[in-house]
Amino acid sequence: MNGSGGNTGATAFAAVARSEGEADREERIKELLSKMTFDEKIYQMSGDESWIGLADMLLQYNHRPFPAGENKRLGIPPIKFTDGPRGLCLDHSTCFPVAMARGATWDTELQERVGDTVGYEARAQGADYYGGVCINVPRHPGWGRSQETFGDDPHHLGAMAVAMINGVQRHVMACAKHFACNSIEEARFFVDVQVDERTLREIYLRHFEKCVKAGVASVMSAYNKVNGYYCGHNRHLLREILKEEWGFDGFVMSDFIWGVKDGVAGANAGLDMEMPSAWRYGRKLKKAVRRGDVDEEVIDEAVTRILRQKARFARAGDPAGYDREKVASSEHAMLALEVAQKSIVLLKNEGKALPLGLDSIKNIAVIGELADKANIGDRGSSRVRPPYVVTPLHGIRDKVSGRVEVVYDSGKNLANVRRVAGSAEAVIVVVGLTYKEEGEYLSDWSRVGGDRDDLNLPAGQEALIKAVAEAADRCVVVLEGGSAITMEAWKDEVEAILMVWYPGMEGGHAIADILFGDINPSGKLPITFPESADQLPFFDKKAKRIEYGYYHGYRLFDKEGLEPAFPFGFGLSYTEYEYGNLRLSETRIGKSGRIKVYFDVTNTGEMEGHEVVQLYVGYKGSKVDRPVKELKGFARLDLTPGETKTGLIEVKAEDLAYYDTDAGAWETEEIEYVVYVGPSSRYEDLQLSDTFKVSGP
Ligand code: BGC
Repeated sequence: MNGSGGNTGATAFAAVARSEGEADREERIKELLSKMTFDEKIYQMSGDESWIGLADMLLQYNHRPFPAGENKRLGIPPIKFTDGPRGLCLDHSTCFPVAMARGATWDTELQERVGDTVGYEARAQGADYYGGVCINVPRHPGWGRSQETFGDDPHHLGAMAVAMINGVQRHVMACAKHFACNSIEEARFFVDVQVDERTLREIYLRHFEKCVKAGVASVMSAYNKVNGYYCGHNRHLLREILKEEWGFDGFVMSDFIWGVKDGVAGANAGLDMEMPSAWRYGRKLKKAVRRGDVDEEVIDEAVTRILRQKARFARAGDPAGYDREKVASSEHAMLALEVAQKSIVLLKNEGKALPLGLDSIKNIAVIGELADKANIGDRGSSRVRPPYVVTPLHGIRDKVSGRVEVVYDSGKNLANVRRVAGSAEAVIVVVGLTYKEEGEYLSDWSRVGGDRDDLNLPAGQEALIKAVAEAADRCVVVLEGGSAITMEAWKDEVEAILMVWYPGMEGGHAIADILFGDINPSGKLPITFPESADQLPFFDKKAKRIEYGYYHGYRLFDKEGLEPAFPFGFGLSYTEYEYGNLRLSETRIGKSGRIKVYFDVTNTGEMEGHEVVQLYVGYKGSKVDRPVKELKGFARLDLTPGETKTGLIEVKAEDLAYYDTDAGAWETEEIEYVVYVGPSSRYEDLQLSDTFKVSGP
C-alpha cells in the first residue's frame, strides 16, 4: 500500500470519480496527478503482490484478486484483478463452457449475458478488473490454449469479444489479451513471431481494434516477441498502433511474471502496468527516470491512463448492489446450461442415429473414462472451481431417470467393451482431451498442458472407438476438447459424432438434452477441423523464431483447394433448412457506405431449430492477393417447423478493406464484391450469391 502516511487528500480521487463527462474528468485527473508524489505515481504502475502472496497463489491460483496501486492518502482504490476466460478463478464461481465452445454458438447476445454474469460474479467477490477476454488467433489448432479464445477468424473473434466486453464492463473493467500473436504455448516466453505488416493488421490485430472501439478498459501485452521485440517492449504494437493509431485511452498491463524483461524498454514502449508485482518497475523504474532513461512524461501518461479507467469504472455497476449468494447460483448455472446446449456441434448423424428416443429405446451403454469425469478444461490461469460439475454419465442418468437402462463401462478392457456395446441398442462413447494434453504451460516439470504433439485423440481412445463401432449397431461419439481433433482413423466407422468441447459445470445435462432430442443442436465450428495436420501451417511448439504467413484456417483451405474433415462454420441439426431469396439493398455503395443483405431461411424439417447463417465476401479483380472469401457477418435465426424467416446482415464497406503496407493505411478497393450466404464456409453450402460494387466516397 502506498501513501499511508497521511490522509489529508483522501477525497482527491473521489472528485475525479464524481466528474461529469470526459473533459471534466481529464481536468480532474490532471489536478490529482499534480498532487501525487513521484513515488506515488510509480506505485500506480505495478501490482502489489508480495512474495508470500505469490506463494499463496501457487496453492490456489487467483483464489482472491491480485491488487495493484492502492493509495490511501489520495483515496485511490486498488485495481483488483481476476482471471478466467470461462468463468472466474475466484472461489467457487460459475463455470461456463470454454470460449471456443461459446464461439461455436455464434450468439453474441448470449455471449453478452455470459459477460454480464461473469462481471457480476467478479464484483460480488471483490474484484473490479477482469482479465479473461482472450482473443488470440489459433493459427494452428495445436496451440494448447486454443480453448480460451472464440475461434480462428478475426471477424467472428471481434464480434464475440465485443459482446463479452459489453457484458463484463457493466460491472468491472475488462482486459483483452494477449497483444499480440500469442499462439504457441510452449514457446510463449521466447518465440519471435515474424509477421509482415499486412498479415499482422488483417489477421492478428483487426479484432483487437474492434475491442478498443467498444471501449475495452485495458489490453494485456503478450509474452512472445513480434518482429524482434518482446510484446511488452514493442513500441510499434503498443504506442504506434494501439495508442496512437487506434486512439486507445485505457492502460496496457503486462502478462504476469515474465511479461516485462526490461522496465526501461517497457515503459518507453507504452507498457503502463507491470503485474502482479513490481520486478522491473517499482524501484528500478524510479532509478531509470532519475537516470534520464525514461521521461517523467511517460510516467504521467501511464498513470493518467490507469486513473482514467479507475475513475470511469468507479461508478459502474448494478445500482441494486452485489449479492455474494448469486455467485454460481442456480440462475447462473442455468445460463451455463443454455450456453452448453447452444455450443454443441453435431458433426455427423448417419441414418438419423440421433436423437435417441426416450420412449423407444430400452437400453444404452455409456463407455469411456471421460463419461464419468469432470472435464472442464485447462488448469492454468483459466481454471474455475465450480461447486459441482455434471458429467456426461450423470447428465444421461438424470435425463432417463429409470426409463432407459444405462450400463456404464470405463472402456479399459476392450473385451468387456465389445460385450457391453454388443448388447446395447445404442452406445455413447465419451472420449477427448483433458488439461493434461492441452492448456497453459509453465515448464516441462509440470507435465500438464502445453501444445498438442498431433491432433489425434490420445493413445488408446481410437482403438476404443473402433472396438465399440465394430460391436455396436449405433455408435455415438461424444468428443471433448478445446480445439480441432483429427478423426480420419475412425470417423467413417461411427454413426454420429458430437463435438461438445469443455462444456462447463452443466455440460452433462446439455449433452443429454442433445442426445435425447430435447434440444436441437445448433452449434457450428468456429475453427476448421482438418483431415490431417499436414494440411495446416507449419507449427513448432519449441520454435525460437517462426513465420506467421497470411493464410491459415479456411482461408488457407480455400486458397490451396484443400478438403477439411469439417469446414469452418459447419454443424448439423435434427431439422433441415432451405436457403433462398437473396436480396441486396444496393448494387453499388460508397467507401463509407454499408450494404444490407437479406435472405430467407425455411425450416423444412419437423423440429424447432436455430440456424447460424454466415455471410462471406469474395473480391473480384483486386490488385492484391486476397482470400477466396472471408467471413463478414453472421446471424442466428430461430425457426419452428415449416416457418420461413427473412434474415438481415449488414456489411460495411470499410470492413472489406485490405491493409496497404506502402501507404500505411486501410484501402477499400473500388471493385466488385461477391456476397455468399449459407450454412457453412464450404462452397457447396454457399448457394446464395450476388455481387455489388464499391465506388466513390
Ligand atoms: C497468462 C494470462 C493470464 C495471467 C494472469 C498468465 O500466465 O498467460 O493469460 O491472464 O497469467 O492470470
